Amino acid sequence: MLRIGIDIDNTITNTSNLANNLLKNDINFNGYFDYHNLSKSSYILFLNKYLDYIECNAGLNKDVCEVLEYLHNKGCYIVIITARGSMNFKNTEINTINYLAKNKVYYDKIIFKQESKLQACLDEQIDIFIDDKITVLDEMINKNIITIKFGDCVKKISHKIAKNWLEVKNIIDTIINNE
Ligand SMILES: [Mg+2]
Repeated sequence: MLRIGIDIDNTITNTSNLANNLLKNDINFNGYFDYHNLSKSSYILFLNKYLDYIECNAGLNKDVCEVLEYLHNKGCYIVIITARGSMNFKNTEINTINYLAKNKVYYDKIIFKQESKLQACLDEQIDIFIDDKITVLDEMINKNIITIKFGDCVKKISHKIAKNWLEVKNIIDTIINNE
């Protein structure tokens, strides 16, 4: 049985779209278009104001629910491994669990507060890990984990690349068929 680890933000959900729209339309953060560019203090202000809303309302990436359901039916074990919760905002875990339930996102287990995800992957004996962040995947090189970079990628990288969830499905189908 394949054990698949998956990130949430910008992998399952389209978090940055919503966050950056909120940012652009808030006069308090005038001139900023990407929340990653905020100073530390502005970033905290931004999260205090919007994090609950973002966690409850970020859009799902296309086809993610169908593909997770498909992988579950194929016998895969699905572990969500997320950095969410690392900053100790009090509602993050409950917001996330409620959101996943409300949107019928299939998973077997969820692990919060993992900015570095390697240890959780090793503990959970993850075979395949999917994340939008290359630095997260880079840690997993030479650890016997198949890494899939989710989303557009112009750089040449040593991970498999899936632009969308149908491509994730194709990559994993190929792995299952070659087992
Ligand atoms: Mg992410």
